[in-house]
Amino acid sequence: MSPRPVVTRFAPSPTGFLHIGGARTALFNQLYARHTGGRFLLRVEDTDRERSTDAAVAAIFEGLSWLGVTPDAEPVFQHARADRHREAVMELLAAGRAYRCYLTVAELETMREQARAEGRAIRSPWRDRTPNEPDAPHVIRFRGPLEGETVLHDLVKGEIRFRNIELDDLVLLRSDGAPTYNLAVVVDDHDMGVTHIIRGDDHVNNAARQTLIYQAFGWEVPAMGHIPLIHGPDGAKLSKRHGAQAVGEFADMGYLPEAMRNYLTRLGWGHGDDEIFTDAQAADWFDVADVVKSPARLDWQKLGFINAHYLKVADDVRLAALVARVFEGRGETLPADLVPRLPGLIALLKEGAKTTLDIADALAFVMRRRPLTLDERTQGLLTPEVRSRLGRLQGRIAAATFERTALEGEIRAFAEAEGVGIGKFGPALRGVLSGGATAPDLATLLLALGREESLARLDDALGAPPAP
Ligand code: GLU
Repeated sequence: MSPRPVVTRFAPSPTGFLHIGGARTALFNQLYARHTGGRFLLRVEDTDRERSTDAAVAAIFEGLSWLGVTPDAEPVFQHARADRHREAVMELLAAGRAYRCYLTVAELETMREQARAEGRAIRSPWRDRTPNEPDAPHVIRFRGPLEGETVLHDLVKGEIRFRNIELDDLVLLRSDGAPTYNLAVVVDDHDMGVTHIIRGDDHVNNAARQTLIYQAFGWEVPAMGHIPLIHGPDGAKLSKRHGAQAVGEFADMGYLPEAMRNYLTRLGWGHGDDEIFTDAQAADWFDVADVVKSPARLDWQKLGFINAHYLKVADDVRLAALVARVFEGRGETLPADLVPRLPGLIALLKEGAKTTLDIADALAFVMRRRPLTLDERTQGLLTPEVRSRLGRLQGRIAAATFERTALEGEIRAFAEAEGVGIGKFGPALRGVLSGGATAPDLATLLLALGREESLARLDDALGAPPAP
């Protein structure tokens, strides 16, 4: 028999934001599908009507689409398949692999205590009993094997064995006719043709139960790989106090989706020492079998390093739109004359930025409007001697070619002509041009402001030269 074409899936429960752990699970599933020439599907597990919300569905779709992890087919909504789930349960019932259980809540509680004391899972007496009143309220339970083992050949964790005696007879259908989670997952994965399940290792125990359900249906059990969760930098479970958890938060903090994809792929998986790789390389190299067994830790420094790389190579018109949004979010209005210059300014100033927020910060000195209020330090630097020196420099700036090497040469030549080091006027010039805001090296500073604005800022600080 030729192997089935690979089908992977991401199956989030829409109960909140898209966590980066979930996003990475989705990414791994997509990468594995691409790696094998298979398909990647999305299933929204909204079977639990009380906990699922439309807002969470929207947040998941938005997070995935921002990240660029889109399924190869329309998403499946689990709740819409409830009839199919019920039909499947009836099949198991007819085959004797499930039974109607009439235990009351109180009875169940007593049995649970007993079972716990005996170190085994509960077994309802209704496994082997025929009801007098079949229509009385009841659930339908899986008839699990009482002996033997269920063995999971996990793609990440290796072989995991479960004693069947410890796996209880799961409820498949509740008394109100609602299918339960483990049943729905199995029926959906089967019907969607899923061959590989890659998900968080909080599902390992479910995997044993689901395996038994597959076997009861006589269906091929998909391959499974349970990946460790993402931890915070301190090794504890990732939580609010680590700074961010939701994909949307990382977007708001100025990380690019391609950087996030690269970083998340690298989190718990690797290809030698490669830190930066393209989507095509990731798809080429990724194998779920290479996911590491221990939890990955969020590393802000590495994320910053990777994002800095993608900022450097990103199109500056695209970055301009993102940076404009940062200003908007901060309630700052970008001066109209800067709007068309923004991409060019970003190209000049993005060096070293780790996020688009850093880029916005780097633009602060350009954003200032004349006349600048000079900071105390700059005011202190502006001695009469320095003022007259800057006045002489002004003449050179007026005539200089506004190009980096030319400007650098001009500044060096001026220092030589004056017989002083650049330190004697550089800091004052920088202060006058920037007003004391964080600013780059002098040549970049001049280039970013342009000749006219640079001269005008010098005029403001030194007093305009007398009209000719
Ligand atoms: N819906 C489950 C969750 O969000 C995932 C189920 C699965 O991947 O099998 O945790």
